[in-house]
Amino acid sequence: MSEQDIRCSFCGRRKDEVDILIAGTTGHICDRCVEQAEAIVAEESSSHAGAHSSLDFTLRRPAEIKTYLDDFVIGQDEAKRTLSVAVYNHYKRLTHQHGEHAPEVELDKSNVILVGETGTGKTLLAKTIARMLDVPFCIADATVLTEAGYVGEDVESVLSRLLQAADFDVESAERGIVFIDEIDKIARKSDNPSITRDVSGEGVQQALLKLLEGTDVQVPPQGGRKHPEQKLITVNTANILFICGGAFAGMEKIVARRLRKSTIGYASAGHVVEESEALAYVDPSDLRAFGLIPELIGRFPVLTALRPLKRSALRRILTEPKNALVRQYIKLFAMDDIALTFDADALDLIVDHALERKLGARGLRGICEVILRNAMFELPGTDVGELRVTAAYAQAQIDAQHDAQNDVESGHKQLGTKAS
Ligand code: ADP
Repeated sequence: MSEQDIRCSFCGRRKDEVDILIAGTTGHICDRCVEQAEAIVAEESSSHAGAHSSLDFTLRRPAEIKTYLDDFVIGQDEAKRTLSVAVYNHYKRLTHQHGEHAPEVELDKSNVILVGETGTGKTLLAKTIARMLDVPFCIADATVLTEAGYVGEDVESVLSRLLQAADFDVESAERGIVFIDEIDKIARKSDNPSITRDVSGEGVQQALLKLLEGTDVQVPPQGGRKHPEQKLITVNTANILFICGGAFAGMEKIVARRLRKSTIGYASAGHVVEESEALAYVDPSDLRAFGLIPELIGRFPVLTALRPLKRSALRRILTEPKNALVRQYIKLFAMDDIALTFDADALDLIVDHALERKLGARGLRGICEVILRNAMFELPGTDVGELRVTAAYAQAQIDAQHDAQNDVESGHKQLGTKAS
């Protein structure tokens, strides 16, 4: 074969038609084809990277997840450890599924139920996890949900919220976290007369199962009820992590009763579990006794309890977390060039009032608002450059609000007597 007859094995050009012709063992390739091949390789590898990029979150180990949670959530060590493992396993499962090979072992999802009084940090835990993972997060309230066809919202509306949180990026929503609050309120009502249907209890639990099964769900983008004319969006829930929270009032009695009856374990070992401590031993059978259906419980393999917050925890919550209330108020005042400080005994006083209100950490904010409300109204724009909140100042503001409330109430009463 003469030199002139040598051709590029890809495009067929002769040697004199190209700048460079590279010889291989059985063929040749020209400079133009090399360039094209390079472009193809680049494009392929970037689209591959694209497919993986949606899963490109850093998988943190449980201990790292817990350390992150520690910055925002005070106490609740047991719940933090359990949740850290659940989240770690959940996202390990995601990467496993998207690995090179089809998974030999299917990993089950680790949906979580958090049991604990109001204001103990259930929502905060779920929210903090979502922020750490940088995935879409939404909070839904189980009490507004009813069985399809009844007044209320369809269970799919839970996913509408997630879609909204993900800016309608379906792929991103499909690996988000949904926090369903007040799950205890959809417990089966045992005293429900059989004639009336339990549309907001067991009916909703059955409907929720559909979301938890990990199938395609048709979601109305704006939530509420499905309308025939509304275009629905398909969302696959296989990789959405569901975290449910509930106060489960009276649960400690159920747990304590079971522990007392059990012939193995704590009771037989001579331990007597106080009712106030019983929640720490909550297990799936207690959820069942409370009125959750077994199928639903089965979808939530992870169960953990949050402890009521004690005085010392509440005190730390005021100042320690990264976005602690006191830090937030200091920042708010600083924006008006006012240096805000709190005396230690003023903080103690806030905690005392919060304990009295029995709203957990939720009460702290309301009390701070009352104490600072007048200052926040009056000080901006004046030449006052600092505000020191002493215990006396705090108490005076709380008393003033009480007086104002009493005035309003007695005003109402007087109007009432006049009208009658
Ligand atoms: P719930 O248990 O009712 O879901 P939340 O998580 O909504 O309670 O908490 C209510 C408020 O109290 C939040 O603003 C949160 O900042 C604060 N809070 C509750 N528990 C804790 C905690 N353990 N550590 C820090 N802040 C907390």
